Amino acid sequence: MSEKDSSVQNDVTGDEFLKEAFKIVMEEAVQNATDRSHKVCEWMEPEQLRRVLDLNLRSHGESQDVLLGYCRDIIRLSVKTGHPRFFNQLFSGLDRHALTGRIISETLNTSQYTYEVAPVFVLMEDEILRTLRSIIGWKTGDGIFCPGGSISNMYALNVARFQQFPHCKEKGLHALPRLTVFTSQESHYSIQKGAAFLGIGTDNVILVQINDRGEMMPEDLEYKIQTVKSEGSVPLMVSTTCGTTVLGAFDPLQGIADVCERHGVWLHVDAAWGGSALLSSTHRHLLNGIERADSVTWNPHKLLGVGLQCSAFLLQDTTGLLERCHAANATYLFQTDKFYDLKYDTGDKSIQCGRKVDCLKLWLMWKALGSEGLEKRVDGALENTRYLAEEMKRRTGFILVMEPQFVNLCFWYVPPSLRNQETSPNFWDRLGKVAPIIKERMMKKGSMMVGYQPNGNRVNFFRQIVVNPEVTKEDLDFFLDEIEKLAEDL
Ligand SMILES: *Cc1c(COP(=O)(O)O)cnc(C)c1O
Repeated sequence: MSEKDSSVQNDVTGDEFLKEAFKIVMEEAVQNATDRSHKVCEWMEPEQLRRVLDLNLRSHGESQDVLLGYCRDIIRLSVKTGHPRFFNQLFSGLDRHALTGRIISETLNTSQYTYEVAPVFVLMEDEILRTLRSIIGWKTGDGIFCPGGSISNMYALNVARFQQFPHCKEKGLHALPRLTVFTSQESHYSIQKGAAFLGIGTDNVILVQINDRGEMMPEDLEYKIQTVKSEGSVPLMVSTTCGTTVLGAFDPLQGIADVCERHGVWLHVDAAWGGSALLSSTHRHLLNGIERADSVTWNPHKLLGVGLQCSAFLLQDTTGLLERCHAANATYLFQTDKFYDLKYDTGDKSIQCGRKVDCLKLWLMWKALGSEGLEKRVDGALENTRYLAEEMKRRTGFILVMEPQFVNLCFWYVPPSLRNQETSPNFWDRLGKVAPIIKERMMKKGSMMVGYQPNGNRVNFFRQIVVNPEVTKEDLDFFLDEIEKLAEDL
């Protein structure tokens, strides 16, 4: 198989390789990676990992067998985010229909910018965005799939600024007054990043007070907007969060929308995490008032389990704001004398040129499950959270940070040696050191993964997230037993 033109691979041997590789993917990255009898992760120190993996790029090509060996190693040494005991992130699970959509879009390898090269996907994206908007409660509007919620939030900032200061596109920052953005300290850090990236400045991100559940307080928002105005700066946008990343809190949209209306400020809802609750008739009340927003970020790759990445930026605008804000009218892509209706060339709404197809995986999964199936998925995640919260109350050692109102279940685990010492002066300091040790142990064992963090003045606590629909009650009992076991001697 070796003596041949090494620059050619799309021949019979290339197809053979692909078939063999698909077998490996199916066996190791799909079946074993979601099988409870296999590990979630295979921890190695970076030095060791570098020795085990042959990462060096060389002048000569290597044999098919060696390449297939690399494929196996890569899968074996990677974290299995589709495993029923991976609770570390706001995404997990491996939906087979969505995966099929991902494989097809990767294989077709097109760019979402023009109807010419992506006829099916242009129409599909349009249809999905329309559906998502109607679930929000909007009859019309606009939108685009972005490479992640952080970028969707940055779009919101840029579009809000363009709407108020259209000449900013040509004149730049120096033609603008000082602009301010309002958000809570629990909001996602991409608001800070966006303010830095777009030249607004992180000092001009004003943090609005939260209550003890992590929800923005509209009275403080009103006060802070008035203060900023009296200092001569322009309130640009209020970025609320529905489903905060750590605590899973929902800002009260009705009260905040009243404040925004009064001051004529753009209302953005970052529902990257919580947006999928809109699909549940039981839980959509968490986002009451979302229809009053100017723009929304919603990541189906999180709670719905579509696969990274799938993030929709949606807006109520019908004046072509998105396109006007970002268009550069490149004549080699968006020719004005094309033989079809130019409204199907949606690429100039984006800040990108080439853009991946993110709609097919969601579309195929939605077709397979129906909205009813998606609703069950959301309800199931909340039921699992409820179950875990009740179990934790029955067991000793588990302390809830607060009653969960969403999927985020935040808790401390008090190991045997620290029990009944809550009043001792260094209890919280010592408790804060527990989560990192338990985390290290679970990863070295490969039994499960769950995240921890400090938050405000709270010391390190775990944030348990169950979004994988494959997770059973037994998995949840395993999770609790495993924490107890890993901390037995602490
Ligand atoms: C995850 C998250 C984001 C960022 O989304 P990415 O797709 O990871 O960039 C933004 N906001 C909230 C509330 C999130 O939970």
